[in-house]
Amino acid sequence: MSIRYCPLGSGSSGNSFWVSGGGVELLVDCGLSARQLEERLVGVGGALERIDAIVCTHGHRDHILGTEILACRRGKPLWVTHQTCEFLSRKIPHELIHCLNPDGPTRIGGLSVTATPTQHDIPGSVALVLSDGEVSLGVATDLGRVTPRVVDALKSLDALILEMNHDEEMLARGPYPNHLKRRILSDYGHLSNAQAAGLLDHILHPGLTQIALAHLSEKNNTPALALAMAEAALRRHGSRAELIVCEQSRVGTPREIRRRDGCSAAPLAEAAC
Ligand SMILES: [Zn+2]
Ligand SMILES: [Zn+2]
Repeated sequence: MSIRYCPLGSGSSGNSFWVSGGGVELLVDCGLSARQLEERLVGVGGALERIDAIVCTHGHRDHILGTEILACRRGKPLWVTHQTCEFLSRKIPHELIHCLNPDGPTRIGGLSVTATPTQHDIPGSVALVLSDGEVSLGVATDLGRVTPRVVDALKSLDALILEMNHDEEMLARGPYPNHLKRRILSDYGHLSNAQAAGLLDHILHPGLTQIALAHLSEKNNTPALALAMAEAALRRHGSRAELIVCEQSRVGTPREIRRRDGCSAAPLAEAAC
């Protein structure tokens, strides 16, 4: 058994990840336009027709932009927390939205999806762990701050998509207005590179073999700064996990998470979604 995934785009302007496992194909977050999502899926050999469901972490635009069209016009079942359902039901009929179980895993086909509340500034925000019963993938963006509950949820993963939103110095010197800087730096905003590396200090283990750095701010971060901070965390723990940087404007390379002799996560050679 294995889980495959591919970043379709990630950054402050929009986030979406293709995930396949347990006999189903999902979009985790849907923060690009429906048209862009369709084009990007085709670009990596996938197809919107094959998407069985959408799971969204929270109701901010950069995670839900395409949901209305995909749910209402393309008939894709949408899974979100109860609070996000209330928020989205202003635009999307209630009957098209399914609620994630707040107390344990939700089954979507052969995948279990476990939602853990995060401290972000919209009610119902969660980090997700997707598992086919053998391997697991975490999706942790828009965390606000690192809480013991989030650490606990991400402790035994095989692969992780992790927010590294900003470099604190770049943000301080950057062009954002002060109220926005305060929001990002607050306990309800986004993780800095250093905070994300601090989270890695808690959860790195030999089985975590692949980490995709996501939700990088285009104005307040660079791939090099995020990578340097993550690499330092890996060195502290003797981790040999592979690091990948997700990009806003381009799809990533589809990856496969497969457990072999203890652990393994590998790129898919010329693979299609
Ligand atoms: Zn958000
Ligand atoms: Zn976001």
